[in-house]
Amino acid sequence: MPTLTVNIVTPDGPVYDAQVDMVIAKTVTGEVGILPGHIPMVAPLEIGAVKLKRDGKVEYVAITGGFVEVRPQQVSILTPSAELAESIDTARAKEALRRAEERLQSKQDNVDFKRAELALQRAMNRINVKEGNM
Ligand code: ATP
Repeated sequence: MPTLTVNIVTPDGPVYDAQVDMVIAKTVTGEVGILPGHIPMVAPLEIGAVKLKRDGKVEYVAITGGFVEVRPQQVSILTPSAELAESIDTARAKEALRRAEERLQSKQDNVDFKRAELALQRAMNRINVKEGNM
């Protein structure tokens, strides 16, 4: 059966490099399922979990947006940060979530709400990937 080479790369280096059967990613216009032979495409990504199916098993990588470039035999994801479940620090994510919630609830004018909302999404996404809640 044909496979896809998937690379997930961050400014700190590669996080994932493997042959898979299918990739599911959340683009800004909706979820896409990518199989070998997919037409070439570039799309911006949301904060979310990339789902990777290989030999009947599923892995998730938490990503914080970026871009996906699809070619028939290769999927490249460039993202500001990416973690496999095993390298997610739950305590750190929960602390980031608490800070973001505090900022969103604060009535101060100088709070950057959009920034806090994105921090909240990143933290919740990491917690979900760590706990397998997708
Ligand atoms: P924090 O406020 O805890 O830094 P953040 O969402 O602002 O969270 P990012 O800017 O998205 O963090 O990521 C900065 C770096 O820290 C990246 O390399 C990312 O992989 C890593 N990172 C962030 N949170 C976690 C976590 N909970 N577990 C493991 N690595 C993390």
